[in-house]
Amino acid sequence: MLQRKSGALTIPHPLDGKTALVTGASRGIGRAIARRLAHHGAFVIVHFNTAEADAASVVQAITATGGQAAAARADLATPAGATLLADAALALLNGRNLDILVNNAGISRRAEIQDVTPEQFAQTLQVNLQSPFFLIQRLLPHLNQGGRIVNVSSIGTRTAYPAMASYAPSKAGLEALTLLLAPQLGPRGITVNAVRPGATATDMNAGARDPATAAATATTIALGRVGQAEDIAKVVAFLASPDSGWITGQCLDASGGQRL
Ligand code: NAD
Repeated sequence: MLQRKSGALTIPHPLDGKTALVTGASRGIGRAIARRLAHHGAFVIVHFNTAEADAASVVQAITATGGQAAAARADLATPAGATLLADAALALLNGRNLDILVNNAGISRRAEIQDVTPEQFAQTLQVNLQSPFFLIQRLLPHLNQGGRIVNVSSIGTRTAYPAMASYAPSKAGLEALTLLLAPQLGPRGITVNAVRPGATATDMNAGARDPATAAATATTIALGRVGQAEDIAKVVAFLASPDSGWITGQCLDASGGQRL
């Protein structure tokens, strides 16, 4: 068991012995979540779609620092993706159950309602809502007592961005799913929560990486800067930890106070 020395005390890592699946973990917020959960002691399954080398480097970075991880591929833009991923994860768990499921994978196509095709709308709903829905459904019998489900939503559900015409409704659906599952899974000690990032510097949000755009966005954020992937990962790690056991059915803003 991994142990960390703190003064005279030996503190066990909070997720020692736990298992976790993080979707979309080859880059961005998902990668930061995977690394943090592994740092806290969990065996982490790093899901990816096409970026096999990036996923392998996340696994390598985790194992190089004494953690445990493995990678699993699935395309969550297809109806079969969630089942494929669940089956791959269960195979990697090799008879163990899952403790932590983080539905992080997502796509965002900036377009107002008049510019969204039915195909684009369906794809956004598939990746952001339908795949998490059926991934949870397939893994429910394999979640341990005291488990954690964390869904990555967006502040686009509580503040109006017309250019998020398909994205915001998909995340609103994910939040509704979060709420309705909480009482159903409460008797098993499983908590279900969502995190709402604000502007976070990743591939998805190139503007938050551009210094001029990020500075303009920062004027709308109480804490005066755009987010980094690690800012979100810390909040997810808390909701995945035993310390958050009295919180369920909640959507936690992790935006530095954007557009309050
Ligand atoms: P990102 O684009 O870097 O990461 C998205 C992840 O989803 C990638 O790993 C990608 O491979 C995966 N993914 C996309 N399509 C997939 C598919 N068809 N099959 C499997 N995996 C697929 O962006 P990010 O910012 O790290 O996003 C992570 C989450 O945070 C997303 O759910 C996003 O909606 C949410 N979010 C991000 C921001 C932001 O400003 N970056 C703000 C609010 C919410």
